Amino acid sequence: MKDCIFCKIVRNEIPSYTIYEDDVVKAFLDISQGTPGHTLVIPKKHIANIFEYDPELAAAVFSRIPKIARAVKDSNPDIKGMNILNNNGQVAYQSVFHSHFHLVPRYTNHDDFSMTFKDNSNKYTPDDLKKIQDSIVAHIGD
Ligand code: AMP
Ligand code: ZN
Repeated sequence: MKDCIFCKIVRNEIPSYTIYEDDVVKAFLDISQGTPGHTLVIPKKHIANIFEYDPELAAAVFSRIPKIARAVKDSNPDIKGMNILNNNGQVAYQSVFHSHFHLVPRYTNHDDFSMTFKDNSNKYTPDDLKKIQDSIVAHIGD
């Protein structure tokens, strides 16, 4: 896509600190470096978000992620773990609308990354959960 910043990175029209690329994906340092080594993995094909993947592209992209994640982890003995995130839609904090996966190396529980969600389990009855389950199951396609 012409004006997409990540498509421009794929075409090398703007520079990136690329750590891996092949015919399907490109992986490069996230300029924000949430923690040192913070990397983005993107499909070279422009798609906006997770909802636009077909099974073949999803399989191709996901199959590359462990290899890239291992390289990031092995690059620094202080990396003890990794969060992998994928934001979809502005409401979910997506700011670049070319699908991407964040690989965020973790050094300690108190490094510069945090991710929290509330535990609302005490607000749901089994019946509430069953209704949610049924409404989602009804939309699972083939
Ligand atoms: P998200 O908020 O999930 O859409 O993440 C977009 C990410 O892209 C942010 O973490 C930005 O720091 C990163 N980003 C934006 N422009 C560039 C760029 N030119 N090179 C590397 N990372 C970028
Ligand atoms: Zn794009």
